[in-house]
Amino acid sequence: MRPDKKILRELLSTEGKENLQALYNKAYDVKKQYVGTTVYLRGLIELSNICSKNCYYCGIRSGNKELTRYQISYEEAIAEAKLCLQMHYGSIVIQAGEREDRTWIEFITKLIKGIKELSEGKLGITLSLGEQKLEVYQQWFEAGAHRYLLRIETSNKELYRSLHPVNHSFEKRLKCLNLIQECGYQVGTGVMIGLPGQTIDDLANDILFFYDLDVDMLGMGPFIPHHNTPLKYLAESFSPLEALTMGLKMIAACRIALKDINIASTTALQALHSEGREMGLKAGANVLMPNITDTKYREGYQLYEGKPGLNETALQFQKQLEKRIFALGETIGYDEWGDSRHYQKKKN
Ligand code: SAM
Ligand code: SF4
Repeated sequence: MRPDKKILRELLSTEGKENLQALYNKAYDVKKQYVGTTVYLRGLIELSNICSKNCYYCGIRSGNKELTRYQISYEEAIAEAKLCLQMHYGSIVIQAGEREDRTWIEFITKLIKGIKELSEGKLGITLSLGEQKLEVYQQWFEAGAHRYLLRIETSNKELYRSLHPVNHSFEKRLKCLNLIQECGYQVGTGVMIGLPGQTIDDLANDILFFYDLDVDMLGMGPFIPHHNTPLKYLAESFSPLEALTMGLKMIAACRIALKDINIASTTALQALHSEGREMGLKAGANVLMPNITDTKYREGYQLYEGKPGLNETALQFQKQLEKRIFALGETIGYDEWGDSRHYQKKKN
């Protein structure tokens, strides 16, 4: 049943420690009932910070001339995928700035095939490489990728326009989500929470947008200002606690409303609180995306201020992560793709 907007607004307007705890508990109950308490891990490779776009909020936008641009080589990316396999993460996420040139398209195709081959098909591959043509989405799907993450950023067209240059199009982004679905990918989208001018009504509409699109996965996180973007002026009034709370409320409301989809507890939550990602799991999320990018590249992929884990290797992180997840009373879905129950249901 389509979620009721009035109820969504109420959930998102929750205030006060006890009421918030009650909201998170309710979401956790829904999570237990519909998806269980197994956390699925996706090793995240930040493949390149080269981007042709210029989104006003993003630290790696093309207009940031202070950034040294990098692209991880094929061999390095394959080595990271091997590490992912050795650590028993069932899936890998390849993320980067947006590029549509042929060299890039072929590089990604070769990499997808290489990862499939080295893991004998065991590693699931998720892409987060922005807006592309149908043929490109198809080519990557045929090479072996099976999930795609493309955040709509906000479902409010006017708000979207205020956050992007005129040559970035909300309609094109939406169309791309449809193309991705058409190709057969499991589709993930999401929004930034706490954008300038965003209201509770917008966030409630975002949840209805996710429902109407029939998404399989969500990756959402608080917006955090970056010093080298047009939105840097927001840093002064930025409250990490408020941003964290709104991010957790949105996760909880999505879990309550959408029930059996996968929801990631994103790094942006951890940037705001050392236990932000665990808080996300307690508020209804069930997926974590540990960063497996070689630490020498991490400085170059600062989307926002204070991104954590700059010097922490994947192995160091894994040890801590296990402890933290077990402490919550949850288990880890090692060596599993961890497709969303929502997607499995549609398939059957
Ligand atoms: N370039 C691809 C795209 O835009 O879909 C994938 C990489 S992009 C860096 C991944 C996500 O980072 C974006 O969808 C956006 O939501 C998020 N992001 C960028 N700047 C951010 C900021 N200042 N605070 C929080 N999230 C941010
Ligand atoms: Fe590029 Fe993605 Fe950042 Fe926009 S959000 S500037 S497309 S990396």
